[in-house]
Amino acid sequence: MATAGNKIKVVCRIRPFLKTEKPDSAVSVEGDTVLRVTNPRDTTKDVKFNFDSCYGAKVGQDVIYKADVRPLVESVFSGMSATVFCYGVTGAGKTHTIQGTDTDPGIIPRALEHIFMHKQHDPLDYDIRVSYYEIYKEAVFDLFKPRDSAGGSGLPIREDASRKIFVAGLSEKRVTSYEQFDAMYQRACGNRRTASTKLNNHSSRSHAILTVQVQWKDTVGSGKTWCGRLHLIDLAGSEDNRRTENGRDRMAESSAINRSLFVLGQVVEALNTGASRIPYRDSKMTRILQDSLGGDSQGMMIVNVSPGEAFLQDTHNTLNFATKSR
Ligand code: ADP
Ligand code: MG
Repeated sequence: MATAGNKIKVVCRIRPFLKTEKPDSAVSVEGDTVLRVTNPRDTTKDVKFNFDSCYGAKVGQDVIYKADVRPLVESVFSGMSATVFCYGVTGAGKTHTIQGTDTDPGIIPRALEHIFMHKQHDPLDYDIRVSYYEIYKEAVFDLFKPRDSAGGSGLPIREDASRKIFVAGLSEKRVTSYEQFDAMYQRACGNRRTASTKLNNHSSRSHAILTVQVQWKDTVGSGKTWCGRLHLIDLAGSEDNRRTENGRDRMAESSAINRSLFVLGQVVEALNTGASRIPYRDSKMTRILQDSLGGDSQGMMIVNVSPGEAFLQDTHNTLNFATKSR
């Protein structure tokens, strides 16, 4: 019988207006959990959406990290798995939230700094390894290896003797300090950008997954090996490219993206409603993350939305998807 696991939290974040945008706010936060979307023609038709938390445009990266992400990062040191996704259309603030900038660091640098800080202050001998890969059109590519051209068919997904799912051939880099991690990560981000320029800006069309694995041996008793895992994910833009672009390749690409996001939504919804069948196997990403979603794992989806009226249709699509998953 399926046991009810931890639910996947769904939180919403509104980004601030950019200097180039008209500040015609179409969304606002009510209390700590409700997002109100304005109907510009008739405010009696405003729609409200409920989240576990809802963050307005003024809320900084540190607040979101401390309130929602830090407990997940900490759980890795109890041998648990945790996953954070950023979902939303291109331009809504996913990369800013998960990665951030040098002056306004996001979840990845904060989480990794936290992990190395913990390692430093703990007598246990932690072995920390990172993988960084993207899933593009249902194919997996290692971002720690430079990609030449259109990039082949990607890495295969396999199951080991204990039925654990893994990506065959994916690099797992051992890192011993934040600085070492950061240098490696910056180079990999460069690989992603290069591939993106060659491949028609595909970075908004691929899922980028950073996996941190923390392993250690019990020094007392059994000598058992423990392993905690953290996945930090910048999802592909959730916009429906089929509306605006009609090249055949783009169509196939768009349906692959929409399909994997659709499956992710179904998996989250199934976990959160306690359904007995969880459709992990229906997409590469959910298959890879299978052991880290549901059960004892902790998960969180950050739903990024743009503040302006120009994005109203996108915002409605995003919010309908996200609140269905709760
Ligand atoms: P996405 O990855 O979803 O396509 P980005 O993270 O690239 O979106 O954000 C789009 C733009 O908005 C970028 O210029 C980014 O710097 C800015 N931005 C997004 N979120 C914030 C935020 N919370 N604070 C300041 N600027 C933001
Ligand atoms: Mg982005």
